[in-house]
Amino acid sequence: MLGMSDLSGFEVVEDPSAAEVIVVNTCGFIGPAKEESVETILEMARYKDEGACERLVVAGCLSQRYVGQLSGDMPEVDHFLGSSDMLRLGEILADKGERLMVGNPANYTIRATDPRRLTQRGHSAYVKIAEGCNRLCSFCAIPGIRGKQRSRPIADVVAEVENLVEQGVVEANLVSQDTIAYGRDLAERPNLAGLVTGLARVDGLRWLRLHYLYPETLSQELLDALRAHEAVLPYIDMPLQHASDSMLKRMRRGHGGRRVYDVIERLRNALPDMVFRTTFIVGHPGETEQDFGELCELVRWAEFDHVGVFLYSHEEDTHSGEMKDLVDEEVAKARQRKLMTLQRTISRKRTHALIGTEIEVLVDGPSEESEFLLDGRWWGQAPEVDGKIVLANGTARPGEIRRAIVTQAADYDLVGDLLSPEGTRDVPSPSLD
Ligand code: SF4
Repeated sequence: MLGMSDLSGFEVVEDPSAAEVIVVNTCGFIGPAKEESVETILEMARYKDEGACERLVVAGCLSQRYVGQLSGDMPEVDHFLGSSDMLRLGEILADKGERLMVGNPANYTIRATDPRRLTQRGHSAYVKIAEGCNRLCSFCAIPGIRGKQRSRPIADVVAEVENLVEQGVVEANLVSQDTIAYGRDLAERPNLAGLVTGLARVDGLRWLRLHYLYPETLSQELLDALRAHEAVLPYIDMPLQHASDSMLKRMRRGHGGRRVYDVIERLRNALPDMVFRTTFIVGHPGETEQDFGELCELVRWAEFDHVGVFLYSHEEDTHSGEMKDLVDEEVAKARQRKLMTLQRTISRKRTHALIGTEIEVLVDGPSEESEFLLDGRWWGQAPEVDGKIVLANGTARPGEIRRAIVTQAADYDLVGDLLSPEGTRDVPSPSLD
């Protein structure tokens, strides 16, 4: 949508009171996301009275899911765009839009030729490799909102990444709803291993990271592709959701707890330096203390690097949304706190183990902590979700990949000294106290 506004000759302003058109891109798959989206729409609607706003546009998944209700309840909204109607923002900006522009999400898949403006720091980009999902996880409303899986051809993803690299991107983070199933919907049946291999050959792409891998038995071909190329990071982001057989069955994940342990072991054997990120849901209907205990046991055993713990959200039009044996909200919140506390201890152990080691870091830019420091991430830290490394001792450009020595560690963040390109420390490290 930012790309469309550029194409339409609009300038993006930071201050909403100065904007003639305000677009709220919403999320709508769980309760807290819906609340945040509605609050933001109402907050932005004020600028129709108090600011320059002439048109308020609501786009994205909330709009796709509840357009009937929202269009009745929110007369202040001028246009609704669905989750796959982003490019139709051009019609709105040209004053040719209707009020309801919510189409069938299955009709659109992003292409390399679509306009795009990077919203991350200029050297890092997310790349969407497919839209939609063919799985049946019982708690999940996403397939209903985003439609069946539509993968992009390998050549199209490669073309986009080549474009991004030309603009200065060195790190590409592949995303989709179900990355491991990439290509299964296309007639030529390309697969993730082929895509990774194609992208690893893009000259100038230094870091390639894969997000949202479903815990399937990983093919040898994929494991080989993850090992074969220097640019492909041994960073695995695999949402496991739970560990107990009964919960995984109720969640309709298509496998039991044994699979979870097996997949982790297989990955560790193939990628000894692996950094592993995962997410879990606690408080799903029917979750007992024993189920939760099994989840804690997995977390203790696996010693993951990064873990997100989400509270179950009871959603209409999902299979779990019909279930009656709900877990008390306070119990669910207590489980979330307990699991996060357990993980914090593990994370601290993992980050402290890095002290004294030399690691590759990507410099993001000046530090939020001090103008004399730089913020960066080592390859085990994905942008926005995994913490950062604060770099002392030296200068570097944003987007540079350098080596650093870890000198201090907190629960999730690190502190390090930049090394000169020759591998030596430039000057003594300033005290950070
Ligand atoms: S794989 Fe992910 S997006 Fe697809 S149904 Fe399951 S949780 Fe939802």
